[in-house]
Amino acid sequence: MNPQYLLFDVGGTDIKAAFSDAAGTLHGIRRIRTQRVASDPAHTLVEQLKTLGAELMAEFPESNPIAVGLLVCGIVDEANGTGVFSANLGWRDAPLRQLVADAFDLPVGFGHDVLGAGVAELRFGAGKELGTAVDNAAVLIIGTGIAAALFVDGRPLSAGGYAGELGHGAVPGGLSCPCGAHGCLETIGSAGAIAKRYEQETGVHVAGAREVLNAREAGDKIAVRIWDEAIAALTFSIAQLCCSIAPQVVIIGGGLAQAGEALLQPLREALGEKLTYQRLPQIVAAQLGQDAGLRGAHLKAVAAGAQST
Ligand SMILES: [Zn+2]
Repeated sequence: MNPQYLLFDVGGTDIKAAFSDAAGTLHGIRRIRTQRVASDPAHTLVEQLKTLGAELMAEFPESNPIAVGLLVCGIVDEANGTGVFSANLGWRDAPLRQLVADAFDLPVGFGHDVLGAGVAELRFGAGKELGTAVDNAAVLIIGTGIAAALFVDGRPLSAGGYAGELGHGAVPGGLSCPCGAHGCLETIGSAGAIAKRYEQETGVHVAGAREVLNAREAGDKIAVRIWDEAIAALTFSIAQLCCSIAPQVVIIGGGLAQAGEALLQPLREALGEKLTYQRLPQIVAAQLGQDAGLRGAHLKAVAAGAQST
């Protein structure tokens, strides 16, 4: 094993880090909570990455990385190397690629966390399992919120970092959203919303959407309704995608995907009823789980390493 790439996947809740080798195998995966320091969020992040990098170097003293792969959450301008905006972490127009390149004195491949994870799912995960080349796809990450990686004619859609914000598109029955809008998909269709709505209506604390699904399967009427409303909201948004970018496959990842066929089969049925002449996409579960972001960071690091030699 010869680690060549230093990888970071920076989310709103935690940062994952690892080394990868030329084959893309991950080594020394670790995770820490993302610190929030409002006065200087970008440098706070860089300090955390330096600490993680030092830990990995200590664990693999023979390693000599040739590039860094860095994925971050929020609105990300991949071309310019900036974190445009992160509601969770607080940066605005932060030159993250340059800051990390300076910190490690290495070339940095930089991108958006969901888009990077989506590329990895298509290349190594669910996309690979489909067996044929998929040029048009949507990867939906449904957790606390909802974000999408969109692929059209073989290319990921970035649009300056603003593409794929599916969770903040309005749906019928949507509620007030922390983003300031009303009706956003993620207020009703996300794992976080399912758990929160159930708690609000029943006064019963649940650890997550999984418990609401269990209650539904036990015949709890409120759980049945909340779950069905989430399915309807997700179906609405996926149908819109079918009319705009016509994916051949919709890959569902994130915490809610752990529900498996209890989520996917009703989505397939509802989408089939909603669409008429449009291309009906396959709906499948993501395969890479928590490592999708690091696998995506690996692809970015490889590209950056190749460019610099
Ligand atoms: Zn919103």
